[in-house]
Amino acid sequence: MSDLDLVIIGGGPAGLTAAQYGARANLKVLVIEQLSVGGQALVIDVLENYPGNVGIINSQGKEESGPKSGYEVAMDLHRQAESFGASFLFSVVTSIQKEENCFNINLIDGSILKSAAVIIATGAKPRVLGIPGEAQFSGRGVSYCATCDGNFFKNKKIFIIGGGDAACDEARYLSRLTENVILVHRRDSFRAQKALAKRTMENPIIQVRFDTVIKEIKGDKKVNSVILENVKTKETNEENADAVFISVGTVPQTSFLGENLNLNIDEEGYIITDGKMATNVPGLYAAGDVRSGAFRQVVTAAADGAVAAHNAAGYIDAINN
Ligand code: NAP
Repeated sequence: MSDLDLVIIGGGPAGLTAAQYGARANLKVLVIEQLSVGGQALVIDVLENYPGNVGIINSQGKEESGPKSGYEVAMDLHRQAESFGASFLFSVVTSIQKEENCFNINLIDGSILKSAAVIIATGAKPRVLGIPGEAQFSGRGVSYCATCDGNFFKNKKIFIIGGGDAACDEARYLSRLTENVILVHRRDSFRAQKALAKRTMENPIIQVRFDTVIKEIKGDKKVNSVILENVKTKETNEENADAVFISVGTVPQTSFLGENLNLNIDEEGYIITDGKMATNVPGLYAAGDVRSGAFRQVVTAAADGAVAAHNAAGYIDAINN
């Protein structure tokens, strides 16, 4: 017998929206989050592409405030989920087992929670490059989050590595802190959405270096320089640097799931679901960035969470009747 109807692992936009929908469907819902709610949305400076997030226009037709940040939207989602009755626990899930119609969720303190259904919404974490100096200078000039660490490098020379949406977003954020932003991308065109790529190319502060890779990060107590290589000419050069922001994609946070569940995952480790967000394990759902094939936007994570909770509620009804 389960103590809970629905446990949601991960408190990003997918998990928070699932919590709201689950609680509104009268389920006993618990969200387990290891750090702070909000997930990767917390680092989005201006969440301008979230539907309806256009800021406030006053009665005189003047803009009173711009679109909310990812942090502000995440805090709203959290408040909304709580207001519908979802509970939150700050802990780490170490493994999950399924016994008949009940999931055992093992926590780091040795306790075990029992739930009829589970939604995995653990998202993804930054991918590392694995180059010399990266681990050594992590936190001493090497960072994976501009909104978290950018302020330490005001008016400094900053390199950003990557060519996706995140790298372009980070470059824009950093271009407000310094006039020396160099975006290094391994190909000759961006992977980022066209609007973001165009804005990046047109930003007079951001210097874009295409066809270039970073081979090494050097320094003493902190980052002092980087070694870059042009992939076409194979020429290398060393340049002074104060910080290197690495933004080369993400890897799914699924290691705690282990092999005992026999969960279907894709070749990169993302969880495979159907259109109902159901995995191959009955009662186990996945939502947001951790899901294979996801578009990986805040809006799609939220939508996944709603769909997963709705179908988890249907599953719980079915096993109880
Ligand atoms: P991404 O879209 O996977 O892009 C990763 C970038 O890093 C690519 O340009 C890739 O190069 C480069 N890269 C990967 N491995 C590399 C390596 N070993 N060395 C050098 N470069 C490497 O990842 P993301 O930008 O973190 O975005 C993740 C997801 O979140 C995406 O779905 C994205 O749309 C979403 N997102 C959206 C927004 C937004 O809408 N504002 C903001 C942030 C993130 P190649 O292009 O050559 O593969």
